[in-house]
Amino acid sequence: MSISEYAQKMIEKDEVFKDISELKETLWINDKLLPFEMTDGLCQLVVSDADIADAADRLLRFAPYIRKCFPETEAAGGLIESPLSAIENMQKALGEAYDVEIPGKLFLKRDSDLPIAGSVKARGGIYEVLKHAEDLALEAGLVTTDDNYERFADDDLKEFFGHYTVQVGSTGNLGLSIGIMSAFLGFKVRVHMSADARQWKKDMLRSKGVEVIEYEDDYSAAVLEGRRQSDLDPSSYFVDDENSLPLFLGYAVAASRLRKQFEEQGIIVDSDHPLIVYIPCGVGGAPGGLCYGLKRIYKDDVHVFFCEPTLFPSVLIGMASGKDNEANVSDFGISGMSAADGLACASPSGLVTRLDRNLLSGDFTVRDAVLFDYMRMLMDTEDIFIEPSSCAAFSGPLGLMKYEAGRDYLASHGLDSEKLANSTQICWATGGRLVPEEIREQYANTHL
Ligand SMILES: *Cc1c(COP(=O)(O)O)cnc(C)c1O
Repeated sequence: MSISEYAQKMIEKDEVFKDISELKETLWINDKLLPFEMTDGLCQLVVSDADIADAADRLLRFAPYIRKCFPETEAAGGLIESPLSAIENMQKALGEAYDVEIPGKLFLKRDSDLPIAGSVKARGGIYEVLKHAEDLALEAGLVTTDDNYERFADDDLKEFFGHYTVQVGSTGNLGLSIGIMSAFLGFKVRVHMSADARQWKKDMLRSKGVEVIEYEDDYSAAVLEGRRQSDLDPSSYFVDDENSLPLFLGYAVAASRLRKQFEEQGIIVDSDHPLIVYIPCGVGGAPGGLCYGLKRIYKDDVHVFFCEPTLFPSVLIGMASGKDNEANVSDFGISGMSAADGLACASPSGLVTRLDRNLLSGDFTVRDAVLFDYMRMLMDTEDIFIEPSSCAAFSGPLGLMKYEAGRDYLASHGLDSEKLANSTQICWATGGRLVPEEIREQYANTHL
C-alpha cells in the first residue's frame, strides 16, 4: 500500500511517524497540549461544564428507571458505574516482566464490568439512547422532567417508541450498548456491524431482537451505510460514533463519578499528587469524552494518554497531522485486521480530535500480541478478566517510563520521582464482562 504525501513528510521529519508506518510500538507526545488555563475559555464555549452537568442530571432522572429494569444497578441506585480497584500485584508483575519500575499506585477503572453493556459504551451509548427517548417523550407530552422516570417502563411508552428506529454502526461494543438499551425501551433497532465485529456480539444482539447487518468492510463503511439508511427514514435516529456530542457527554460524566470514588477511597489529586490516565482508543469517542471530563475537573494535575493498536493509530494520526477525520491509517501504508476488535477504526472522530487537541498528553501504540500477554497477566495476578482491546491501557504505565519521549514529557511537566511516587495511575479497562466463557478461554490460549 502506498504512503500518502503528507504522511511521507511526517515520516521524514519525526522518527515517531516512521515507527508508526513500520507498525512499531511507540509513544507520540502531543505538542499541541496547552496549560489548562489557556483551554478554559474555548472549552466553556464549545462543551461547557454546564453541558456535562446537564448530562449527569439526565442520568440521575433516569436512575429510577434503570434500577427498575436492571436490578444489577440496585446497589448504585440506578447509576451505571464501575469499581476502581488497586492492582498492586499486576503493577509488580508488569514491572518485573518488562524491566520497568512503575511508580505510584496503579489502579484499574473497571468499566469492563459496567452493568447492562459490559463496556465503556454503557456510559456514552446508553446515555445517548436515553436522551433520545426523553426528547421524543417530552415532545409528545408523554412525560415531564418532574415525573418519576420509572414511567419509561410503562407499556404505552414502549408502544410509542416502537414507532421509531435507532441505528448505529459499530465494531461491536457500541452496538451492544445501543442495541440492548434501545430494544429495552421498545425501539426498533438496527446495528451495522463491521468485519472486525465478533460473532458472539452479533448473536447476543439478535437474541435480544436487534436487527444486525453485517459488512465485509471496515468500521467506517458500516457507519457510512448505517447513516445513509437512517437518513432515508424520518422515524429513524442514527447514533453517530464519529460525530456525536451526546455520546461524548455521556462519557464525560465519568469524571465527576471518579472524583467521588477518589474521595471515598482517600485518593488525593493535586499538583504534588498527579493523576495519570491511560485509555484504550478506537474512533476516539469514549476516551475523548473521558479525557475532556477529567481535564475539566483536574486541569493540569491530570495527564491523559490514549492507547491504540499499531494497526489502527487513527486518533494519533488525525491529531498529529491536523487532518482530523480526513486522516486514515492507510495514509501511512497501514492495513490489516486487529485482534483489538473494539479499537479497529481506520479514521478518527473529527469531533474528538478537535475537542481534545489541546488536552491530550499523548498516544501509545501497542501490538496485538502483547495485548494477550497483558490479559493473561491480569488474570493470573488479580483474577480479573478484561477483553484484549482493554488491555491496550497497560502499554501506558510501562511506556511512559520506557520511552525517551515519555521521560522527556515527565521532565518537562515537572513530574519528578517524588511526585511520581505520589501519583495515581489508572488503566481504564473498557470492556469484558459480557464475553462468553468459551471466548475467554480462546483468548487465554491465543499466542500471536
Ligand atoms: C469502543 C471501545 C473502546 C474505545 O472507544 P472509542 O470510542 O471507539 O474510541 C475501547 N475499548 C473497548 C473494549 C471498546 O469497545
